[in-house]
Amino acid sequence: MRVAIVTVGDELLVGDTVNTNAAWLGQRLDERGVTVGRVTVLPDDVSDIARVVNEYRAASDAVVVTGGVGPTHDDVTMDGVAAAFGRDLVESDEVAEWLAEEGGYSADDLAEGTTQIPEGARMLPNTEGVAPGCVIGGVYVLPGVPDEMKAMFDRVADEFEGQRHHTESVVTGEPESALLDRLAELRTRFDVTVGSYPGENVRIKLTAADEETLAAAADWLAERVEPPEG
Ligand code: ATP
Ligand code: MG
Repeated sequence: MRVAIVTVGDELLVGDTVNTNAAWLGQRLDERGVTVGRVTVLPDDVSDIARVVNEYRAASDAVVVTGGVGPTHDDVTMDGVAAAFGRDLVESDEVAEWLAEEGGYSADDLAEGTTQIPEGARMLPNTEGVAPGCVIGGVYVLPGVPDEMKAMFDRVADEFEGQRHHTESVVTGEPESALLDRLAELRTRFDVTVGSYPGENVRIKLTAADEETLAAAADWLAERVEPPEG
């Protein structure tokens, strides 16, 4: 399964908010064996959201959109997603009922627009907040507030499934350029994917579908690189 992540918010583009939702979703999807093919940050803009959601849903099995689902003037994600499908935003009885029963909100308490989702969408309740999310045609719309987003994703997590894999890291104090020959040999000997992440030390991340292959590859490499200093 291949998924694209779209995070919406002007504050993300200018660095006022660090995009922790993208990192969290990327990890959760990867853990489930899902291939994350895109992570994109968009402004709070209806046409940008509509255009990118349409492009990504054509190229992916699902799209996860977060941010901008509240009722304030700058929250336009539902409009953008509705436009992507050529649908209107409509008052949802399902949303109003859930908010009344579980949230204790009557329609009069709620800001206008809170109960609107695209026509034909399935509502996703917000157990940590008010504004609901929704699913339409493989596009999952989740709130931006991290705790609300996480709780809502967890309710639908099992709709995201792929070929699970195993990972292990080997850390070395050698510079990346010195490792090229051993990393090349590792890849010819074992059916593993190799990532190399330099920092104070170099972390070499191995990924394999098979646990024994992974362990053998990690052992082979660990025996052939210098450990970190100290
Ligand atoms: P609400 O339903 O509460 O109105 P919302 O879906 O409209 O939420 P936003 O208005 O976009 O969400 O953002 C709410 C809060 O969540 C803001 O403080 C914002 O900075 C934060 N937030 C939004 N997107 C992200 C993200 N990708 N990573 C981390 N924090 C985020
Ligand atoms: Mg916003």
